[in-house]
Amino acid sequence: MIPYGKQYISQPDIDAVVEVLKSDFLTQGPQVPAFERLVANKVGAKYALALNSATSALHVACKALGLGNGDWLWTSPISFVASANCGLYCEAKVDFIDIDLSTYNICLKSLEQKLLRALVSGTLPKVIVLVHLCGQPCQMKEISKITKQFDVKLIEDASHAIGGKYRDEYIGNCRYSDITVFSFHPVKIITTAEGGMALTNDSELARLISLYGSHGITRDPTEMCDAAHGPWYYEQIELGFNYRMTELQAALGISQLSQLDYFVKQRHNIAAIYNAELRELPIKLPLQHSDSYSAWHLYVILLDINEIGKSHNEIFCDLRSRGIGVNVHYIPIYTQPYYKKLNYKFDLCSNAETYYSCAISLPMFATMTPDQQTKVIKEVKDSLR
Ligand SMILES: *Cc1c(COP(=O)(O)O)cnc(C)c1O
Repeated sequence: MIPYGKQYISQPDIDAVVEVLKSDFLTQGPQVPAFERLVANKVGAKYALALNSATSALHVACKALGLGNGDWLWTSPISFVASANCGLYCEAKVDFIDIDLSTYNICLKSLEQKLLRALVSGTLPKVIVLVHLCGQPCQMKEISKITKQFDVKLIEDASHAIGGKYRDEYIGNCRYSDITVFSFHPVKIITTAEGGMALTNDSELARLISLYGSHGITRDPTEMCDAAHGPWYYEQIELGFNYRMTELQAALGISQLSQLDYFVKQRHNIAAIYNAELRELPIKLPLQHSDSYSAWHLYVILLDINEIGKSHNEIFCDLRSRGIGVNVHYIPIYTQPYYKKLNYKFDLCSNAETYYSCAISLPMFATMTPDQQTKVIKEVKDSLR
């Protein structure tokens, strides 16, 4: 089976991790701050905080922005559940903005109309989590213009998007957002096995993310309530979590980061070949907005079910049986049983439902060989004929 996504681990990656195993620090050593600095410099953010997953990063990002009981968090229904769960972790309520059927990111018109309705009903969100689906950045400039008048905080869930650019600048510089989050799960662009990072330009948000990610404990005397009892003294000043990244993960991340631009370039090459080879089929190819340079985490096609005359499920199973590890990203989050149980009145996101009824992710990873891609293309063509 050719998988839909897969990591690439080089000998230098392995050597970097082994080096750490032989060193004095497996956690809380020099690798994590070095990795944070490298990513911050690479993408142009002031602060970077490494965490043990993007899910953890989203959670502490929401905490840092003050999201809590009675607040609302909005996100896209077409995302991994973590983009919404971070709101529930904070006891906030969650709602969804429908997607745009050209980019599959949130629809700006839906966002604006929903904000105006929420203004009337007094249910404006405190936080919006913007998902750069498949690696294609949301239209951040326009979104920040729309949300500015409503005093909404913006988090970019850039789990798919490290190495991508928006208007010629790397995703992660937080030019139009408060916090950006990356994932280093093995199917993403670069990996630390599990791992994530939160980036911001705001020193207070950076302080809070770090605090919540490490038990709410501080060793900084200026943050303490009492005078230090002695040099051993620390204080727990908030209820935080142990979301720390290990030294092994950070060493792997540093090594992987040196390949980031190459990985993204390879993904662009693969996308260009799919674009050229699949053009004539009864499918919709992923449109790229002119402002964006995608990290191409996923290559999603939308099937023209009527034209093909087979169901979404039939085509999916047929491709799997042909050895193509297709997948579906994503099931609309509000249709998950856990979300249904919450009993909110979600607006129906009809574009998200349409998308879900016909979306298929084709294999896409930096080290996919020409032979593998030729096989994917052949099987997709045969299957849709
Ligand atoms: C993978 C992913 C996450 C979660 O990342 P982890 O590092 O696995 O916690 C969150 N949001 C999106 C959009 C993702 O694709």
